[in-house]
Amino acid sequence: MKVTFWGAARQVTGSMHLLTLANGFNILIDCGLNYENKKTFDEDNRNFPFMPEDLDLVILTHAHIDHSGNLPNLIKQGYSGQILCTDASVELTKNLLLDSLNVQQIESNKRHHVRKKSGKKAKFSRAEGQREAVTLYNRKHVELVCDAMVGIAFRKPLVINDHLTIEFFEAGHILGAASVKMTVTENGETKIIGFTGDLGNYNSKLVKDPQPMPGIEFLVSESTYGGRLHTDVAEAESLLLEFVNNTCVKFNGKLVIPAFSVGRTQAIIFALHQLHVKGLLPNIKIYSDSPLAIRTTKLYDHYLSSLNEEAQDFYRQNGNLFAFPQLTTIEESKESEIISMSPEPCVIISAAGMVEGGRIQEHVRNNISNPYSTILIAGFCAPGTLGAELLLGRPTVNINKRDRQVYAKIARTDAFSAHPDQNGLMRYFESVNYKSLKKIFLVHGDESSMTKFKDLLNLPTVEMPIEGQSFEL
Ligand SMILES: [Zn+2]
Repeated sequence: MKVTFWGAARQVTGSMHLLTLANGFNILIDCGLNYENKKTFDEDNRNFPFMPEDLDLVILTHAHIDHSGNLPNLIKQGYSGQILCTDASVELTKNLLLDSLNVQQIESNKRHHVRKKSGKKAKFSRAEGQREAVTLYNRKHVELVCDAMVGIAFRKPLVINDHLTIEFFEAGHILGAASVKMTVTENGETKIIGFTGDLGNYNSKLVKDPQPMPGIEFLVSESTYGGRLHTDVAEAESLLLEFVNNTCVKFNGKLVIPAFSVGRTQAIIFALHQLHVKGLLPNIKIYSDSPLAIRTTKLYDHYLSSLNEEAQDFYRQNGNLFAFPQLTTIEESKESEIISMSPEPCVIISAAGMVEGGRIQEHVRNNISNPYSTILIAGFCAPGTLGAELLLGRPTVNINKRDRQVYAKIARTDAFSAHPDQNGLMRYFESVNYKSLKKIFLVHGDESSMTKFKDLLNLPTVEMPIEGQSFEL
């Protein structure tokens, strides 16, 4: 068999790996959007380096857009087979793909607006005066992905054909996230390869710990934080409480938390709920302001048995995971504007996590010049995003084409990270007996973190493939 790395090669986004068996059977593992560079987004994602109709099977490790976001385009360009993932991923992916399409439409309209201003001619559709948003795919293609997705269970080997059996293991990253073990029999020989997908932190909120794939000989592993150490997960609650007290109680300010709608928001709300149950949370309003996060939170409730023991115990004792008196969920954008402008001290958790677009941008804009407010960045921010700009500590930032003075406190925490740090990755590698593996491929990490982790592993079997590189196994 042959593995080819078509995405997330020495970078984080755009996961897409192709496994080709000796008989020509092609399996694509993940089909994510590459959003490393806003300017080249379209050319980086519009075409595939292989013929989509030549694929026999697609496996999706989890719902995040950098793993699932180009599936509609894959179908648009001719893929007609099934997409295997877990049940929870089926549901989460539907929501995320629609959200991603919406973001593409907004971005396209923004570009159109800029073009109009600069006097260049804009592209029009057949209905006169109606400009067509330039997106990679449309709603119909998202619906076709929904039709093609098939949910399969964790730890139940599924025989695809005489040559291939696949099995999902909990990756512990977000609800439904799987690592996939593939047992391949060709030319009378059996070979076993495992793809981690995105792994989770050990002891993290809500999701189970990453589970090893037993018996693998080859490993394709994420390495997002292979070069750094996180704040201890156990400190997440106390850290959050400190921010609430220091911002909202001491200074009557607003604590604005940009957070991804899938995974991060639920972990933060759950931690606040735990603080409430312990009687530690002050009587401050908490707003969860993201329609996508609200839909996702319902799915976390629905798939309770997929969550970890801590979450299940909490549910048994308290009757729910995410509802407590201080928490209000915001659906309508009108309500979002009201809480953003109101002077009351409160906590606002909103998306997107990198502060690029979404309602969070308005909350940051309305609170950035308030010296009593805090913007708490709780996740990874790619270079060039507003979140990354804020973290650089500049005295002014540009939001919606206007410079704003930064008087609010800008803080960050990685206590809610959905990826393992270097120690966590090492723990996972030990669980799969990494020294005995024939080959290890590091993907889904920037070159510097990957290199640090490769140096730590210190084995001749470790590769850092570049885009398009193939290996015969
Ligand atoms: Zn992910």
